[in-house]
Amino acid sequence: MSSQLKGSNGFTTPAGHTFLPGPEARPQTRPVAIGPELMVGGGPVILMAGPCSVESYEQTRATAEAVHRAGGRVLRGGAFKPRTSPYSFQGLGLEGLKILQAVADEFGLLVVTEALGVEQLALVVEYADVIQIGSRNMQHYPLLWAAGETEKPVLLKRGFMSTIEEWLMAAEHVASRGNERIILCERGIRSFDTATRNTLDSTAIALVKQISPFPVIADPSHATGRANLVIPAARAAVAAGADGLLVECHPDPGAALSDGEQALPLEWLPQLVNEAGRVAAALGRTLS
Ligand code: PEP
Ligand code: MN
Repeated sequence: MSSQLKGSNGFTTPAGHTFLPGPEARPQTRPVAIGPELMVGGGPVILMAGPCSVESYEQTRATAEAVHRAGGRVLRGGAFKPRTSPYSFQGLGLEGLKILQAVADEFGLLVVTEALGVEQLALVVEYADVIQIGSRNMQHYPLLWAAGETEKPVLLKRGFMSTIEEWLMAAEHVASRGNERIILCERGIRSFDTATRNTLDSTAIALVKQISPFPVIADPSHATGRANLVIPAARAAVAAGADGLLVECHPDPGAALSDGEQALPLEWLPQLVNEAGRVAAALGRTLS
């Protein structure tokens, strides 16, 4: 397979996606509509932000209000959490989905949240606008197939130890079941360097934009693992061509039940929007 990506002829999948590296072969990004009117990959860089985990109504509402004020369009937040330790907070489950929906409605935001397994998919489809498939699940084929049988957009994170080709093939697993509303998310890959949680593969953003029709967004939070690196990484991702940003933020990062070290305090959101927005503007795009 890897020779096919590198080779000059590329390949076309049965779902009709042509992966052709090289300057002459640039499939146009096919925008993915989420909710009634928002397009990802249609020009503006879309800001999706919210807590790592939905912890309470108050925490999620305060976060949604700040995301809305900063101009964000989509509220993120985990109700079902893939935690490294089974003894860590696992999420509020259905109650978390209800909180997300209620506060997103109040502020006119859309919702992206993760389905950890096939058994949660129906609930996520019911409460969210976008199904997130997490890094650890990128090659969970039954989940990819089940998401491919829904009509909801799928945000497919790159596995932290997956090649670009494996990531694109995971997207094909979704598409092969009929759902082509796929948004790819580069969220950092594991490298030899332990100074940061992961390594943002900004080249992957640029490459996938050149060879795949799916919009590509970036998650600078999991890519860096540190709040004070999130804005610089977001700038880099937009510079590389990202169609959106998925960012973790929290009203009180020190008290967060998951990923507090990488959560932007809510007061930092305007700076994120300002700086990433200026990079977008340099490329003739807006950020919202
Ligand atoms: C998340 O976005 O909440 C998450 C768990 O991310 P990842 O799957 O990229 O680790
Ligand atoms: Mn997280």
